[in-house]
Amino acid sequence: MTMNELRGRGRPRSSGTHRCDRCRNLVARIRVHWPDGAVCGACFSSAVNASGACAHCREFRLLPGRSPIGEEICRDCAGITTNLTCSKCGREAERRRGGHCAACIVTEDLTGILKPNEPPDLRLHRLIRELASTDRPRSIITWMRLPEAQALLNSIGARTLELSHESFDALPPAHSVEHLREMLVHHHILPGRGDIRLFRFEAWLDTRLGSFEDRPRIHQPLEVFGRWHHLRRLRTMPPQTNMDYATRSAKQEITEAGKFMVWLDTEHGLHIDKIRQEHIDLYWSEGPSTRKHIRNLLQQRKLTGKGRALKAKARQAVASPMSSTTSRLNAIRTVIEADEVYLGTRIAAIIFLLYGTPIGKLASLQSNQIHADANGMTIALGSQPATIPEPLIPLFTDHLRHGANSRSMNKESPWLFPSTMAGQHISGNALWNRLKIFDLQPLATRNTTLFDLSKELDPASLSALLGYTSMTMTKHAAHAGMQMGSYPATMPTRGEFGPEIT
Ligand SMILES: [Zn+2]
Ligand SMILES: [Zn+2]
Ligand SMILES: [Zn+2]
Repeated sequence: MTMNELRGRGRPRSSGTHRCDRCRNLVARIRVHWPDGAVCGACFSSAVNASGACAHCREFRLLPGRSPIGEEICRDCAGITTNLTCSKCGREAERRRGGHCAACIVTEDLTGILKPNEPPDLRLHRLIRELASTDRPRSIITWMRLPEAQALLNSIGARTLELSHESFDALPPAHSVEHLREMLVHHHILPGRGDIRLFRFEAWLDTRLGSFEDRPRIHQPLEVFGRWHHLRRLRTMPPQTNMDYATRSAKQEITEAGKFMVWLDTEHGLHIDKIRQEHIDLYWSEGPSTRKHIRNLLQQRKLTGKGRALKAKARQAVASPMSSTTSRLNAIRTVIEADEVYLGTRIAAIIFLLYGTPIGKLASLQSNQIHADANGMTIALGSQPATIPEPLIPLFTDHLRHGANSRSMNKESPWLFPSTMAGQHISGNALWNRLKIFDLQPLATRNTTLFDLSKELDPASLSALLGYTSMTMTKHAAHAGMQMGSYPATMPTRGEFGPEIT
């Protein structure tokens, strides 16, 4: 929320001659005339940023309108003709600069400032994505306008400020520096400084990757492997992990991966994307046994859809169902790790991705369709209860315990995803809108049935493919209700954010 809105909302005094029919204040200018009357700038701003279940049609969407008795209603039910669709992404939202919504503007502006492609930097791409997909892109815009923030972002864009704790340490101490650091750590772009071994590993990795800076054909895939596979995995390890051993074996795998890519490049002029089984067989046959450590690299590239079907372990050719499995597993990982997204939304996305449950059916699931006992947890979706993979159980348990009921006004709701309206479950539309944050469109369009992943892969292999332990999951569940303390001006007001899914 901007300072103007802060001032506007509570403004008791009159400063003009026009009466706003919503706040009853006298204002200098009426922003818009809607069916319920004249609306001032401050009231307009809060109206186009409130979403929830429409009191008339029950759709979960933007609620700019007011019914004759003052209920919040959607644009259609209110008969509002003001265009409230972002002309870039098509989401229902306040149209700001150029008809684009705040999230699109954050993406555009940050891309302009951070120049994530000059040269390409995956971390910057990720930072932009994360900041644009928060619940409050407007506060990011506000923050970006602060001169201190601008200076920081500009120097990152000019590549004069490196994204590392050391370079942040070297700056004069300032709130904006610490704030940006927190955001980077929150989004796993900088490591938390909790574990010194992790800290050292990151430094080692930077140096190692730096030594390939002039060889992008090696640098890029090695960075993916080192940072996005190993570092991420190390950061989410449960506290009792032997970090000494974990970081040592990660270093060994990265070192061997680098050596393999150098061999491919020098001996065969090949990028790792182009290798065939013969190259692996040859590499393994002619060198020391440590060369076997590239197994995980090959496995990992296959899982992320980058590698071909090579016998890192015997496996059938990667056919299209497998690659869609891969993208779904990746999507599931993204959902699990999106600690900043409300748990109910993540649970819905997980069920959708795992079992291919159509959205309409998903929205009307009841909590008692989930059954837990000593053997694990199942969900009754078809004739046979489907098993919920073991590492995901803490997330489901947490949602059942806290999410499905206590956050809503419907204390005794039978629904797994209740609406804010007493006794209702969330509408399919509303749920699909909520799921948009995960960008599932490439995998499915609304109400398309995906195949049931849990039937393709038994729960144990699913767990293994997801690569999580239940300890990690407990951590992700525990983070669920956590507020994003790292954002500026986050005073949550009903008007700005609207109610959650439940
Ligand atoms: Zn007003
Ligand atoms: Zn409506
Ligand atoms: Zn947009």
